[in-house]
Amino acid sequence: MPDPLEGLAEVTPALELALDEALRYLATLDGPLQPPGALDVLANVSGPLPEQGAGSLAAVRELAELSNASATRASGPRFFHFVTGGTTPAALAADWLASATDQNSGIWESSPLGARLETVSLAWLRDLFGLPAEWGGVLTTGATMANFTALAAARRWWGERHGVDVDEVGLAALPPVPVLSSGYIHSSALKALAMLGIGRGSVRKLSRDRHGRLDTDALEAELRDLGGAPAIIVANAGEVNAGDFDPIEAMADLAEARGAWLHVDGAFGLFARATPEAAALAAGVERADSVISDGHKWLNVPYDCGFAFVRDPTLLVRAFSLDAAYLPPPGEERPNYGFMGPESSRRARALATWATLRAYGRDGYRAMVERHLALTKRVAAAVEEAPELELLAEAKLNIVCFRYHPPGMTDEAALDELNRKLGAMVLEDGRVFFGTTVYGGNVAFRPAIVNWRTTERDVDLLVEVVLELGRTLTG
Ligand SMILES: *Cc1c(COP(=O)(O)O)cnc(C)c1O
Repeated sequence: MPDPLEGLAEVTPALELALDEALRYLATLDGPLQPPGALDVLANVSGPLPEQGAGSLAAVRELAELSNASATRASGPRFFHFVTGGTTPAALAADWLASATDQNSGIWESSPLGARLETVSLAWLRDLFGLPAEWGGVLTTGATMANFTALAAARRWWGERHGVDVDEVGLAALPPVPVLSSGYIHSSALKALAMLGIGRGSVRKLSRDRHGRLDTDALEAELRDLGGAPAIIVANAGEVNAGDFDPIEAMADLAEARGAWLHVDGAFGLFARATPEAAALAAGVERADSVISDGHKWLNVPYDCGFAFVRDPTLLVRAFSLDAAYLPPPGEERPNYGFMGPESSRRARALATWATLRAYGRDGYRAMVERHLALTKRVAAAVEEAPELELLAEAKLNIVCFRYHPPGMTDEAALDELNRKLGAMVLEDGRVFFGTTVYGGNVAFRPAIVNWRTTERDVDLLVEVVLELGRTLTG
C-alpha cells in the first residue's frame, strides 16, 4: 500500500468495520474488566516501522482485535476505580463526528461550528451548575488543564495586583505567590501550579485533622498575616477519597473580606449542583473567581474533556492570546477559543459536550446524578450492615470509603496488609474494579460511582465480591 490516496476507496469499509468492532467491544463491558492475558497481547505489539503498510482495513482490524483483547473496560458500569465516567450514546456518536469533521476549533474562521457549539455548551454548563451567565469559560483536555487555565487567570490577577504583567515579563521580580488550601487539594492542582511557575511548594495546606479537612481559623489567620497582600485560595468541591467538600461558603466570605482570589476545583463535585438533593454541599461556588470541572468524569463524554470558568473573562484572553499576522483578532461574536486556553489548535470537544446536553438535558443529568447518589447510599448501607466491613467516612456524594475489617481484628498494620492484598485480588478478579487509597492513615477502598450505565446490580456485585474475596483471605 503506497500513498494513502490509493486507499481512498477504503473510507467506507474502514468506518463500517470500526462500527462493527465498536459494537462488539461495547457488548463486553460487563465482562472481565481487565481481559485475561491482556499484558501478553500488548507485549507482542512491537517491531520496526513497517516499510510496506498493511492497508487501512488490515490496520483497523488489527487494532480492533488488540482493543478487544486488551482494553480495560473502563467505560463499563462496574469500573469504580479513580473517578472516571463512561460515554453516553449521544456523546460517543458525537465524538465520532468530531473526528469525521476534523474541525480545528481553536480559531473561529477554521470552525464556526466548533466555536458556536463551545459557546452554547459553556452557557448550558453554567446554567446546569448555577453559575453566573457573564462568566467566561473554555473547554480543556481535562481538570488538570482546567485548573491550569483558571489558575493562569488567577496568576495574572495576582501579578496585576503587584503592578506586573506576568504573562509579559514573568514572575522573576515578584515574591512567591501565596496559595492557601486544605489537605483536600488535588495533586493536579499542584501540578498546574508547578507548570505555572508558582510551584507545588507554594501551597499551604491548612488542615485541622489527618483527613485534611480545612482549618478555617488557620485560613483566616494566614490571610490576616498577609496584611492585604493578594493571595489565591483553592477550595475543593469533592475530594477523591471520600467525596467530601471544603466549606466553600465560609471560604468565599474570607476571600471577599480579604480580597483574595477564590478558585474551586470541582472536577466531579461540581455536579452536586445538578440536583437539589446535593447542591448544598457545593453552595457558594457562584461566589468564586474561578471554578473548573471535568467532562470525562460525571458528564460522561469521551476523553479528553474538561472545562474552566472564570468570573473575569478578559483575564483568560490576556493570558492565552496569540499574536501572529495571519491570525484573526479575537472577538465577542466570533470567539477564538484557542486564544482563551492553553491549546491553540484543538479538537472540537464541544461536539460531544453539546450533544450529550442536548440529548438528556437538565432533567436527564439530574436523574443520573440522583441515581448515583442513591447507589452510593445503597453501598454505604450494605457496608454498614456487613460485620466484616467498616465504613470510614460518611458517603456524602458518590464515593464510599471503607475497608475490610473482620470483627475482633485490631492490629492496624495487619488490617492494612489485609486490605492491600484484598485490593489487589479485586483487580485480579475483574468482576468489579476499584483501587485502594490511604485514608486517615488506613489502607481503604474508595469506589466511585460516576458511570451512566451503573445500576443496583452492579453496586451489589461490588459488595458481594469484596465479601467473597475477603472471606477467602481470612478463612
Ligand atoms: C480527576 C481530578 C482532577 C484531574 O482531572 P484530569 O481530568 O485527570 O486532568 C482534578 N481534581 C480533582 C478533584 C479530580 O478528581
